[in-house]
Amino acid sequence: MASQQSERNEIERLDREYTLGTWTRQRDFDPTQIADTEGPRIVTAEGDSILDFSSQYVCTSLGYDAERVCDAVDEQIRNVPYVNPGWATEPRARLSEKLAEITPGSLKKTFYSTSGTEANEVAFKIARAYTGNHKILSRYRSYHGATAASLSASGDPRRVAQGPEIQPEVPGMVKGPDPYAYGSSLDPDKSLEYIDEMLELEGGTVAAVLVEPLVGSNGVLTPPDDYLPKLKQIAHDHGALLICDEVMTGFGRTGEWFASTLYETEPDIITMAKGLTGSYQPLAATTVTEEIGEYFEDNLLNQGHTFAGHPTACAAGVAAIETYEEEGLVENAREMGEYLTAELESLADRHPSVGERRGIGLHQGLELTRSTDERVPFEERSDKVSSNTTVLDEVGAHALDNDVYFYTSVNTIVVTPPLTIGEAEV
Ligand code: PLP
Repeated sequence: MASQQSERNEIERLDREYTLGTWTRQRDFDPTQIADTEGPRIVTAEGDSILDFSSQYVCTSLGYDAERVCDAVDEQIRNVPYVNPGWATEPRARLSEKLAEITPGSLKKTFYSTSGTEANEVAFKIARAYTGNHKILSRYRSYHGATAASLSASGDPRRVAQGPEIQPEVPGMVKGPDPYAYGSSLDPDKSLEYIDEMLELEGGTVAAVLVEPLVGSNGVLTPPDDYLPKLKQIAHDHGALLICDEVMTGFGRTGEWFASTLYETEPDIITMAKGLTGSYQPLAATTVTEEIGEYFEDNLLNQGHTFAGHPTACAAGVAAIETYEEEGLVENAREMGEYLTAELESLADRHPSVGERRGIGLHQGLELTRSTDERVPFEERSDKVSSNTTVLDEVGAHALDNDVYFYTSVNTIVVTPPLTIGEAEV
């Protein structure tokens, strides 16, 4: 026991000493070692079994017992672990076919990368090449990734925290308002009119309108039902494509394979990652319509990554989709989502600090407020990137003391359990 204790301490010490932590001042980087996983739980080296209602950045939608995925990765890694993307492999071909099947409408051809960030960068390049326009219009309450272009397209506080001295924003990124009512003076009903007018004023220079159909880390924002189809029409009216960033909402999270389907919209491009393999392997994808695919038959697609369509990752993708299908996980997300919605709704009615419940399926959020009448936010948005402990951090820490983990962000408790979750855990 004593030697185990020192081993545990050694891992955390080594990690702290030699790893640069993400999105943090290193002084605040203090990771706890996770030594095991079981079902929807992560287990610390000290033996605490924590019910994970975050799915680890909304990634582990299959939970931790997806044997089929483990077997597929194991087999592939021993068979053809890697060849460069110029060669065909069975898992990549099968995964591309599967994605054409489960994505809406005429979405057909897929370009692979390894992170949601890259999937969005690729989408920008494709939209620019296809339309001949260069700007990307996104919204203030959004996160699309961490590299220069995708972070510049994000409205997330992390974009501001970078500071122009570290990373100047990429030119050609235009931001419009969200259809978001709570605590905002912007009229949500007018947000589409604003975007229409902005596109008009940009004078046909915008290649794509980029949105998370259901916003994730910027507060779980649910749009009005007719928002997405109208947005697509407005984009097309101005010669721009609609890119739906489904990095968080894809693969059943909202009770449909893709949130775009919830809103009966066929985007021109969908980007995805996280749930694509249940995060058993890092893999991201940018899927385009047949028409856009056709365009590149004779025009150069000047983009590529060494690990694009990595066979082992694609094998995990195929097995993950089969697992969603065979275990009825998309349906489970819908059913458990209804139950979760009812429970969170009743909490919102009863609790003086819960301003609003938002979300669909297993993609839920509770916005906290200092005053439900005046809709006063608990924290300023910038607090997310400061090192001060916020009330939201304290709420998260309190949950952790009770062996439940969830992500907190911009005044919102984000509730996104794995799709395998049952009623007892909810
Ligand atoms: N888009 C959305 C909606 C996301 O939530 C994220 C990450 O959380 C990204 C893009 C970026 O993905 P990645 O962190 O894999 O680069």
